[in-house]
Amino acid sequence: MDTSRRPKIALLNIPSGMPSEAFPIAISRVIDGLDPSLDAEIEFIDVEYYGLSFDEIKARISAISPQIIGFSAILTHAYSYLKELSLFLRSEFPDTVQVLGGQMSVLSNLIIQRTEVDFCVTGESEPAFSALIARLRGAKFDLSVPELFSDIKGLVFMSGDVPYFTGHAESEGKGLGQMNYGLMSKFTDIERFFPNVTEGPFKNWINKDEVGDFYGFLFPGNVQKRIASVFSSKGCVGRCTFCHRFFKGYASFEPSLVISHIDELAKKRDIGFIQILGELFGCDKKKTEMIVDHLKLNKLNWSIGAIRVNMVDESAILKWREAGCVLISFGIESCSQKMLDVMEKRTTVEENLKAIDLCFKHGVFTAILLLIGMPGETEETISETIRNLIKVIPEDMTVPYEIVVNYFQPVPGTPGYEYARNAGLIGPSLEAEEQYVKGLYGVNANNIKHYLNFTDYEKEETAYWKHYIFLELITGYIKKHGLFRTLKRKKINRYKYAAIYMLAPAGIRRFLLKYGIMLTSFGLTATISVIYRKIFKKKKPFFSLVRESLREVNKRMELQIRPDDIHTHVLRKGR
Ligand code: SF4
Repeated sequence: MDTSRRPKIALLNIPSGMPSEAFPIAISRVIDGLDPSLDAEIEFIDVEYYGLSFDEIKARISAISPQIIGFSAILTHAYSYLKELSLFLRSEFPDTVQVLGGQMSVLSNLIIQRTEVDFCVTGESEPAFSALIARLRGAKFDLSVPELFSDIKGLVFMSGDVPYFTGHAESEGKGLGQMNYGLMSKFTDIERFFPNVTEGPFKNWINKDEVGDFYGFLFPGNVQKRIASVFSSKGCVGRCTFCHRFFKGYASFEPSLVISHIDELAKKRDIGFIQILGELFGCDKKKTEMIVDHLKLNKLNWSIGAIRVNMVDESAILKWREAGCVLISFGIESCSQKMLDVMEKRTTVEENLKAIDLCFKHGVFTAILLLIGMPGETEETISETIRNLIKVIPEDMTVPYEIVVNYFQPVPGTPGYEYARNAGLIGPSLEAEEQYVKGLYGVNANNIKHYLNFTDYEKEETAYWKHYIFLELITGYIKKHGLFRTLKRKKINRYKYAAIYMLAPAGIRRFLLKYGIMLTSFGLTATISVIYRKIFKKKKPFFSLVRESLREVNKRMELQIRPDDIHTHVLRKGR
């Protein structure tokens, strides 16, 4: 490897293993944020979009001949892919330094020990990555003296026998950029980020029978136009116990920059819809108002990718609707206060119901997004969620009604994951953690098969919950609007199935659904075994007793820190 020339870097994204509408904003920000004085040559290989094989990746890297291969890995789910690729690239390019950035760096302890990655960059990668490149160049890419890197904040690397974490780097606010489309167009097809409205994500989120109603919410003419995605903030003020907080705190972007970015995109393309991305919209009311006014003035329709329920009221929804907002995504998670407390949502059932109701009332689409099966979940909390949500069935039948239910899947770097370790559902050893994380690749959280059972029921008994919530809410819809009116208006099969389902009395349909789903999902032997265990091996209450934030629960049951995790265990807490 020629170490005297300017640094050459090949950046790769790591496929999540799930169908995604990946938006490589992290790559764009890393390239944009690189210190120009490094004079680095950087190339992005869009592995995810082009579905490149390892041999194709090798060919692309050979052509670049980099000293550094950088992996951008968003989801911890993709660990097994990363490991395989890292080992492959080490065998093909033994002298090239491997660096990993992105949310997966929460697994730095594992990655540094079990893959060929030399450095993990935690938090906002930009400053630490630049400092690392400069230091590597100074050291002629020789990694034999790890102490050389120990003063660069935000790095994890092997020092002696254990992974060493240099400490959290404080944000310099460099990661607040929008996607640099001009830059990214050199490496990948950027036009895919501007789909036609009818080809965009809405057709995946709303069933085909009702998506037309949603398009009807748009200003005339916008449905024939294209979608663009824009960030207005980064981070979140929440600290939900299932959610990995990668960045500390929250920052909202300068509205004038957001507005000029929107104008720039709209000028070049026929944009009629803006998807506002980011984990939390609307935190800064003044800045939000400026952006909303601009969207309204330009007759753009828009959606809010994420906002907390306690940040909306009727006047905001009315104003936003008038300004073209047609979709708001909340992530209410549950309508049982006990479960909201376990999740540390810092919201109430009433706030959840009010936010949903206001959207339905004012013609804004919002899907009911639920997370079930966290510690504390019981048949009663599931019923409570249903009972509450039935109170906010839309009056207006043109509002699409979608319910999405996922099972809790502990993600590293969250109190939920640490709880799973503390409770023994994920083993304490490095091997056990690796086995769990490997198993996440390509796994959909709505699939019961991969659910670690956080309840006092047999896992098989919880398989019907998802279907039960769904069918009971659709039943509630039919009861509200009448069978004839509903079936006339809603052609999709779920309403027909619910019409049959609701013929049985409540207790009987629940029983039939529970054992029907158990039989079809797990088979006869497993079902008989569940019945046997229910009669002869009753479990003692444990998970159902959890009533408070998992962050608090963990304090009472923390495991001893593993010797190899002595420097990196702080990453487990997220930020
Ligand atoms: S789940 Fe949503 S509200 Fe909670 S911390 Fe994550 S981004 Fe914030």
